[in-house]
Amino acid sequence: MRISFLGSGAAGGVPLWGCDCPACQRARTDQHFMRRPNCALVEAGGVRLLLDAGVMDIAERFAPDALAAILLTHFHADHVQGLFHWRWGVGELDVYAPHDSEGCADLYKYPGPLKFMHRTKFEAFEIGDLRITPVPLVHSKPTLGYCIEYEGVRLAYLTDSRELPPKTAEFLRDWQAHTICLDCTYPPGMSSVNGARNHFDLSEALALSDAYPDSRLVLMHIGHQLDAWLINHPDALGGRVSVARDGVTLDIGAPC
Ligand SMILES: [Zn+2]
Ligand SMILES: [Zn+2]
Ligand SMILES: [Zn+2]
Repeated sequence: MRISFLGSGAAGGVPLWGCDCPACQRARTDQHFMRRPNCALVEAGGVRLLLDAGVMDIAERFAPDALAAILLTHFHADHVQGLFHWRWGVGELDVYAPHDSEGCADLYKYPGPLKFMHRTKFEAFEIGDLRITPVPLVHSKPTLGYCIEYEGVRLAYLTDSRELPPKTAEFLRDWQAHTICLDCTYPPGMSSVNGARNHFDLSEALALSDAYPDSRLVLMHIGHQLDAWLINHPDALGGRVSVARDGVTLDIGAPC
């Protein structure tokens, strides 16, 4: 199983418009450090799934038969904005999403080829030979993480969230993911001083990593302040913890 990060950034991306912090300046001069909003491609057993749709050119990237389905974590704009262009196309594409009566703007009203559907939390369903279990997260909108298994290889994709609900944490302990991709928007200590606490910060993410010692942790949904912090603390990560980058593909289940 492989995961490719098309967008590894928080809502505003990196560089953030108008910001001259070291991370935003670096991303303007070297596009390898740019981060688009949340979007990833998972491939296994001939099945391709898109997780979230935060990048704006996804309709150009994927032909009508290129994807089996989209798995949406939630209806914040930075996770669904690519669908607003896509919906004017023709055909049909399954979009699994959490129950959210509001959705985002008028997506439900004019879904076009997007077929929104829902699955029950903690009940696995199958797309091809991939087995997918939706798990609840804690965020300002109804949000699901997705635990994806193919031939015994397990990937947990968890964004956006400020913590794991006890049942989700328990599920993950039993499930034993090879790799956990986790929302880590802020540098250490920042989620607690931010009034609208809605995401993990780095110290919380590292504590979660300690709780799952057999899993590799890949941080994503990265904000510019965390990138700037990491410039000043280049040795803060390592071992089982790494940071996603746009355009990077990881082989899940392979050694670190
Ligand atoms: Zn987000
Ligand atoms: Zn910045
Ligand atoms: Zn969100």
